[in-house]
Amino acid sequence: MLDTTDSDLAHLLPSLRGLVPVIQERYADEHRGYRLFVAETRRTTEEQARRFADGSTRCDGVRRFSMHNFPVSYAVDLWVQEDVATWRVTWAMRHYDNLGAIIHDLAAEGHAIEWGGGFRGFYDGPHVQVTKAVLHADLQRSLTSAGYPLVADGVWGLRSRTAARAFTHSDDGRASPALFAELATHGHLVDVLG
Ligand SMILES: [Zn+2]
Repeated sequence: MLDTTDSDLAHLLPSLRGLVPVIQERYADEHRGYRLFVAETRRTTEEQARRFADGSTRCDGVRRFSMHNFPVSYAVDLWVQEDVATWRVTWAMRHYDNLGAIIHDLAAEGHAIEWGGGFRGFYDGPHVQVTKAVLHADLQRSLTSAGYPLVADGVWGLRSRTAARAFTHSDDGRASPALFAELATHGHLVDVLG
């Protein structure tokens, strides 16, 4: 039996957590007989590797990670339920396209979010994430707090990669879950946890 209670909201980035009820309300208003529930937020490296092995994601969690892999998740998966006798999950693409339209509207209203159905070459209809620019700016502010001053412009360029390498004492200059975790461990996350 599938558990259809909203899961894991505590592990969601606060700015995104605040938007989830807005998205759910709009969906229920605009599409009578259907509703969205939170199927997944944060995904551990182990869980990501398992998904990669079974072919349900392009990200292995190490070489290529997902916005779900951060200790505070920058992504949420919303599944559509259909009111037929009992609320049942549906995978019909048009219901996820309807989710995409709502995310598109919210983005137009100024929210820095995007929908996985619009990803090039990989339709991920239930997936909603905060833009990479927001993640990058969060990490840039946090590295600044850690003593590596950066402009929080959301563009992860040479300066950001160099700062990340210096802070982590590693060759990995990516805006990665590991960098995020290390900044958190040392108390340098700035304006991230709400
Ligand atoms: Zn997802």
